[in-house]
Amino acid sequence: MDVYEKITSLAKRRGFLYPSYEIYGGEAGFYDYGPLGILLKNRMEEVWREYYILKEKCYEIATPVITPYALLKASGHVDEFIDEIGTCTKCGLSVKVEELKDDRCPVCGGAVEKGSLNLMFETYIGAKKKEKAFLRPETAQGIFVNFPVLYEFFRKKMPFGVVQVGKGFRNEVSPRQGIIRLREFSMAEAELFFEPDNKTHPRFHEVKDETMHLVSDELDSEMAAGEALQKGIIGNEALAYYMVITKKFLERVGIDTAKLRFRQHKRDEMAHYANDCWDAELYSDRFGWVECVGIADRSAYDLTAHMTATGTDMRAFRKYDEPRKIKRTAILPKMDALGKTFRGKAKKIADELRKCKISGDTDTVTLNMDGETIELDATFFNVEEVEETLAGEKFVPHVIEPSYGIDRIFYFVLEHNYKEVEKENETYVLITLPPSLAPIKAGVFPLVNKDGLPDIAREIERELRDGGIMAIYDESGSIGRRYARMDEIGTPFCITVDYQTKDDDTVTVRFRDTTEQVRIERGKITEWIKKEMEK
Ligand code: AMP
Repeated sequence: MDVYEKITSLAKRRGFLYPSYEIYGGEAGFYDYGPLGILLKNRMEEVWREYYILKEKCYEIATPVITPYALLKASGHVDEFIDEIGTCTKCGLSVKVEELKDDRCPVCGGAVEKGSLNLMFETYIGAKKKEKAFLRPETAQGIFVNFPVLYEFFRKKMPFGVVQVGKGFRNEVSPRQGIIRLREFSMAEAELFFEPDNKTHPRFHEVKDETMHLVSDELDSEMAAGEALQKGIIGNEALAYYMVITKKFLERVGIDTAKLRFRQHKRDEMAHYANDCWDAELYSDRFGWVECVGIADRSAYDLTAHMTATGTDMRAFRKYDEPRKIKRTAILPKMDALGKTFRGKAKKIADELRKCKISGDTDTVTLNMDGETIELDATFFNVEEVEETLAGEKFVPHVIEPSYGIDRIFYFVLEHNYKEVEKENETYVLITLPPSLAPIKAGVFPLVNKDGLPDIAREIERELRDGGIMAIYDESGSIGRRYARMDEIGTPFCITVDYQTKDDDTVTVRFRDTTEQVRIERGKITEWIKKEMEK
């Protein structure tokens, strides 16, 4: 068994992950999180929120999964969110074109017919199935279409960031890699809105010396964020900043940063909306390098697309440092002449005239009003140079988007922390999860099941839970077996109640990774574990 198979088996046995719909034969690309799995996944998402909401001052919103056709047509997903596929004419298997060998079916060797597949799941809204819709392929669009109200919410101050944590759906062609490639998966996305020529971050100086393993066509090396920015390898400061944040987050949830690199997309690999993109890739002994976070500069692409499609003003306003004076040629209507000739229509014509953009030598103007063409010569207007004061200008904001695939990161947290230890000819497994991430923080055991020790242990379990710490009482099997059961689900501390506890109210606490033991006063365990979790 390789590491992936070992993890999959442990994950199923111990309640982290179950393949979905197994009793109906299973469905590729879908996974259930079991009782321990969801605790770990929830913790990962909480830590993610700590980074983006608490520290980066973003706000979270929640928008629907079902998305109207018009929106995804405008965003480019209807036409561009496509995989080129080959379908075997003999056995019917479909695979991505890049997985084909010599244009033959990789399974039966049959001839292959090429085609394309839009990755979005289709559905309909309403009883008569009139309005076509899709399950969202990313959470981002729900944020973009709310830009005008969000801009108001942030009191029209740029930059600002809005996040969404939720499900994304992609009808992947042939998912065969567990939770690495799902058809329904969890994403945590941040959409950070900037002025186009000011993609900076006020705290970049704090992270400029943090290094990252960067890979592009020209380089493959560890480099400080500041240096990569200076050399133009990373396109802008905000992008570089959020790459560092990504590294910090991944490290915090237990990823081995020696197995993390940032790879720049080649031009022809970039999504239809991106103009610079770095993937945080994690290394797996089974799958090699796998993209787990995409950090893209989406420029003004999405907001412009929705503005064009709906006519809604998706622009922000920026005040100039100093008001700017500009000269422009303006048409000044002659109201007397207009009134005499056009009577009741004169005011409307004057208003239209003022809006005309003209050059200095204009002597006639043609207006189209209410289906009528009106020719006007210089009898009706003067052309003059006027000076105007502008306080600022409107612009379509640019977006930097870090997009995290939670399920992939979840798998890598397990793989990077999966350890085997040989002891007395037996293999013990431990998952070295950071204490703050572990689904269960403490096991509580009576040394023996008599003389009142189980009652004390049960009380301690209760005290820990009342104090906000997930603990489980276990009295079955030898202490060694109980430790082993806790080790393989990543529980960092095991508390044992023994005879000394009855004398002096102390317990032993055993550390998962070192097996070292310390004695601690019973009344202080909750606070002690809380402190350990902060480390
Ligand atoms: P993308 O929008 O394609 O950059 O995807 C953002 C992130 O979502 C990726 O970095 C992956 O971690 C995750 N992701 C994309 N497709 C899948 C999938 N089929 N299954 C699981 N995670 C995915």
